[in-house]
Amino acid sequence: MAKMFIGGESVDSLTKHVYEVRNPANGELVDTVPKGNAEDVRRAVDAADTAFKSWSETTAEARAKWLFKAVDLIHENIQELSVLLCHEQGKPVKEAVTEIDHFLHGLSFYAGLAAKLRGSYVPLPDNKMYGMVIKQPLGVCAAIVPWNFPITLMGTKVGPALATGNTVVVKPASSTPLTTIRIIELMAKAGMPNGVINVVTGPGGVVGEALIAHAKVRRVAFTGESKTGKHVMAVAGQDFKRITLELGGSDPMIVCDDAEIDKALTGAAVGRYFNCGQACLAVKRLFVFESVYDMFVSKLVDKVKKLKVGNGMSADTRIGPLHNEAQRAEIEEQVQDAVSRGARVIFGGKRPEGPGFEKGFFYLPTLLVDVPDNARVATEEVFGPALPIFKVKDLDEAIAKANSSIYGLGSSIWTKDLTRARRGAERLQAGNVWINSLHIGYDEMPFGGVKQSGIGREHGPEALEYYLETKGIVVAT
Ligand code: NAD
Repeated sequence: MAKMFIGGESVDSLTKHVYEVRNPANGELVDTVPKGNAEDVRRAVDAADTAFKSWSETTAEARAKWLFKAVDLIHENIQELSVLLCHEQGKPVKEAVTEIDHFLHGLSFYAGLAAKLRGSYVPLPDNKMYGMVIKQPLGVCAAIVPWNFPITLMGTKVGPALATGNTVVVKPASSTPLTTIRIIELMAKAGMPNGVINVVTGPGGVVGEALIAHAKVRRVAFTGESKTGKHVMAVAGQDFKRITLELGGSDPMIVCDDAEIDKALTGAAVGRYFNCGQACLAVKRLFVFESVYDMFVSKLVDKVKKLKVGNGMSADTRIGPLHNEAQRAEIEEQVQDAVSRGARVIFGGKRPEGPGFEKGFFYLPTLLVDVPDNARVATEEVFGPALPIFKVKDLDEAIAKANSSIYGLGSSIWTKDLTRARRGAERLQAGNVWINSLHIGYDEMPFGGVKQSGIGREHGPEALEYYLETKGIVVAT
């Protein structure tokens, strides 16, 4: 049985209750996990609060060394961790390796920045006085993580938090706590002082709720659905906690008439079906110029046909199962809704059948055309392997339609004309634009959303600002 990690120790919940984590590909039991409650959260926050004093006073260089050591230790165990991630999340093991590699790259990135932060000296109107601006860590940070990328999205919070001298309580999604626990045990083994990083497992409505409401938590970093994000903001805002919200998206991809077609086809296929379409920055609406539309769509069908659906443990699997039954039911309803409004399914649109598919939450990669603008797949987030394709006459129409969404996370433009691309990028209402590139998050670049896709930024040196308080000090000489 897996345990929570509080104050440097592996512990059960005070409730003694546990729940099961099951494999989305076949329903098999992966492990059991403590079902934590508000009292467990209190223990973890107290441990993090106690650790904060010494951790925040540790030199940035020492914190960086520890983070680098943790990276090495986790890397030595990457195969075992990737198999565990495949089992609990459902993603192909190859994608699990990529995810953990990405997490390690992010930790190294923030470890590298830790000792490079600096404040400033400010001349004042009176030359017998001067000012200093210094940056200080905030205290206990809550890292609330969803199930689609449990490890990278934990890293985008834990990396900048620890590098800047904060302490952390991690709340993984209920259905994907196991790899997180193993990784945090390894981080502790690398020599981290007790209480600097803690994990409490259990339902979001109990454990997450207690964390966002706890007075000693000074910072909430949340990734999840926009609906949950609204609630998190309302509760955490009660006592003015620092908040970042990384929420849902409906990323448009725009293929112009002069796009490099083969690259754009890969961008659409990988961008939509990676992680079985369960990515915030997945390509969720495809806009193709009418002059290349028929050719592009026909080649995309050929490409998507070749994506093998199956258990993520098979080396040739490209698309694993959806993470749970509710996710699959939602995709089925969204596709059904589009069809009932006149859309046509040109590939997929159903569950695969046969041996190996009996128990998992599988769904074929799906392509939809003739989709009306009011279909749910056009107006809602599609968090699974279905892609609505829209024919547009030019960039103005594509951008107007792209911007009609309530979301504004990522977006992409595919064209050889970089002036057109740059102007388009400026007009797209999104936190991130990729030009001729797969929608992908880089640790080096700020990432986040506008409109209902969120507030604040993760990744990049920009993320550090959200873990630091700015203090002005005036000195009279
Ligand atoms: P979710 O909102 O259901 O859960 C996210 C986390 O919040 C989980 O750990 C959950 O246990 C916790 N939680 C639930 N209720 C809570 C409460 N009342 N108080 C505090 N915490 C609570 O989201 P999900 O279904 O796990 O994730 C999928 C969603 O996440 C999608 O909408 C996706 O687009 C979004 N997402 C966004 C990004 C981004 O960077 N913008 C990245 C990945 C996923």
